[in-house]
Amino acid sequence: ESVAPSPLLAGLNAEQGAAVTLPAEHALILAGAGSGKTRVLTTRIAWLLQTGQVTPGGVLAVTFTNKAAKEMMTRLSAMLPINVRGMWIGTFHGLCNRFLRAHHKLANLPQTFQILDTQDQLSAIKRLCKQFNIDDERYPPKQLQYFISGCKEDGQRPMDVVARDEETRKKVELYALYEEQCQREGVVDFGELMLRSYEVLRDNDPVREHYQRRFKHILIDEFQDTNRLQYAWIKMFSTPPLEGLTPSGNAVFAVGDDDQSIYAFRGARVGNMADFVREFRVKHQIKLEQNYRSVSNILDSANQLISHNSNRLGKNLRTDAGAGEPVRVFEATSDFAEAQWIVDEMKQLAREDVPKSEMAVLYRSNAQSRVVETALFNAGMPYRVYGGLRFFERAEIKHALAYLRLLENANDDTSFLRVVNFPPRGIGARSIEQLQDVARSSGCSLHDAVSAVTGRAGAAIGGFVAKLDVLRERSVGMTLSEIIELVLDHSGLIEHYRAEREGQDRVENLEELVSAAKSFVGIEGFGRDAVARTVDGSPLTQSPASQGIDPTLPVLDEPLAPDADTGETMSPLAAFLTHAALESGDNQAQAGQDAVQLMTVHAAKGLEFDCVFITGMEEGLFPHENSMSDRDGLEEERRLMYVAITRARKRLYLSHSQTRMLHGQTRYNLKSRFFEELPESCLKWLTPQQPAWNPSAAGAGGGWQGNRGGYGTRGAGAPAVLQPAWSPGWASGSDPKGLGGKSNPEPDRGTDIKAGMKVFHNKFGEGKVLALEGAGAEARAQVNFSRHGVKWLALSVAKLTPVDD
Ligand code: ATP
Ligand code: MG
Repeated sequence: ESVAPSPLLAGLNAEQGAAVTLPAEHALILAGAGSGKTRVLTTRIAWLLQTGQVTPGGVLAVTFTNKAAKEMMTRLSAMLPINVRGMWIGTFHGLCNRFLRAHHKLANLPQTFQILDTQDQLSAIKRLCKQFNIDDERYPPKQLQYFISGCKEDGQRPMDVVARDEETRKKVELYALYEEQCQREGVVDFGELMLRSYEVLRDNDPVREHYQRRFKHILIDEFQDTNRLQYAWIKMFSTPPLEGLTPSGNAVFAVGDDDQSIYAFRGARVGNMADFVREFRVKHQIKLEQNYRSVSNILDSANQLISHNSNRLGKNLRTDAGAGEPVRVFEATSDFAEAQWIVDEMKQLAREDVPKSEMAVLYRSNAQSRVVETALFNAGMPYRVYGGLRFFERAEIKHALAYLRLLENANDDTSFLRVVNFPPRGIGARSIEQLQDVARSSGCSLHDAVSAVTGRAGAAIGGFVAKLDVLRERSVGMTLSEIIELVLDHSGLIEHYRAEREGQDRVENLEELVSAAKSFVGIEGFGRDAVARTVDGSPLTQSPASQGIDPTLPVLDEPLAPDADTGETMSPLAAFLTHAALESGDNQAQAGQDAVQLMTVHAAKGLEFDCVFITGMEEGLFPHENSMSDRDGLEEERRLMYVAITRARKRLYLSHSQTRMLHGQTRYNLKSRFFEELPESCLKWLTPQQPAWNPSAAGAGGGWQGNRGGYGTRGAGAPAVLQPAWSPGWASGSDPKGLGGKSNPEPDRGTDIKAGMKVFHNKFGEGKVLALEGAGAEARAQVNFSRHGVKWLALSVAKLTPVDD
């Protein structure tokens, strides 16, 4: 039953309507997947605006991805003819960027500061470690990166970290040096965007009070995945009553689902929900229990799976959608066969008129996408990969961007090092070290140190710097796309890739960069009021829609606004570089083309598709081997699986493969334990379930499932429960019942292998047992071999002998 009278509320159920129309007080909407949380949040913004309770400038809305932010703006502009100019809707990072540009002086940053993405950050850390002769076996740069990001996510500067041991002290020291380096170069990483803007708010009462007065309504989607610092950042905009200060009188509206918290590895704290309720004395808590997304076979699967987790806040979800198709499960012999099966199913769906954009392939790890991409490519199916190697992350694009960044900021040492000898111009590592020495001892940037380097090295590097200086001069007065063309021609990049045998793709990508610059616009306003302009200043007379410009392109009006004191504005180039660093460029398929969607489960959060394929449902992959040895890790994997399942509206497909090439190694994986946690009545097995290992059925080749042949031939005499696509050789054994059944629950590990034990394997050598699981024929051990890394071994096959310490 719907709540009248605003037409915005039509079609909402009673709880949703109540949530949308809550008074201007703090509220938490806690509800499961697909129950309309995001829809409620968006509708609330529209309702607040429509009823005149707030102006567009008074809204601060945080979403989790750029895609979600764009979708929210599009939906809002469809509901109301409003001007989104001045509306702060975006990701935490996007909003912090905007904030820091506006307050760069207080933040002690150049207005044109550049953003280091995760890769840039790692190379900056590597550079630092090299400079200070840090033993990278003892302090691997990746670990340092993790440490630094972790500190920032907890709001800790080097001096705040309590170091109890020598190792931590060293890391803190490097953290401090890394900060100095970033400050000198005028660059900030993602964590710094958050922390720096938090500190500006914390330390400047007038600024904080200004924003507290301005943002009457603060709305946060996916609240379960906020980390400590993000929560503290929100508190800067709205003082909670418990902090002992005068409450600022604005309303925080948080929506979330504890079962979808999947970023613990990046510091997300589900506990923020409970803290929020307590600290803000939240009066309104609403649960939404009706799921509008999925048919019940899918929803029941999700519900049953997640019921295996402990410490849940407890929510129910029901649907009126009917059972729908069963969840289809497929076992492939190899990852190639799995990909081929996906493509075949997709072709069938396409014949049933499912748009390709409603078909999604989800995977646990990025590396899995390549095989699927190849199969799609061979089948001529357009596809689009979200996350993974995005356009702006490709090597050739990053090279071009490095030149552009150096035009904007000569002191950007990361960019300097990336291209000082690329394309190769005979500058050796020794010369660069010499330059770095000079820069370090005189405390200046590499660019400024050049004149002090003598000899041949000095001349070669000097040539590079002179070239940059000429380009910078020539670029004055040029439009953005002209600057990019200039750099592509004169840096030698295009020439270099043209000469490469496989460089054509890269040349095309570089050319695509010019197109990206041409279509890069700042948009002011939406709907009827929309006015678009190109970043290089030439006004467009028509509305963006009639110009064929996507109205969801990034809104960059504010960063382009002049500095209030000096009138300084951010150059179009700087704005474009910011866009490149923040934007997850969508590329492969042309914009507007109907394409299959590929992404990791993490990237799929909040999205929905008619048909979803979850691939690689194997032990070690999903659940992932890094997280399956302890309960917390495993529960997070299970939430991830819950997120994956609940993306599907009508059809869900799960697949696993007997063998898989990953990181250059063939792996023999067992099917995921998550299959055991799904309701059998909702599943349809397209291939027989993996049989339990049965010694009596074992022929010469052994009974182990990994050894059996492929399928494809129709097994005429297969038992009725089995689908026919199976190799006849296998089922002819003695125990057809065992094929569908669960394994013998009695533990039978042959030896008494225990976790923590040192063992010897005659191929892999010595290792330590990390974890054990399963029973009987399915018993397996996870072993970390000192020479061969972590492996899962079936105990019924592998001979492990305990060794004494
Ligand atoms: P997630 O937890 O995955 O982020 P969510 O709770 O944010 O999900 P939404 O994405 O807002 O859910 O909604 C799920 C789907 O249900 C959307 O397609 C939405 O349009 C639809 N929906 C929500 N409420 C209703 C309703 N009252 N009537 C019809 N459809 C609805
Ligand atoms: Mg949502």
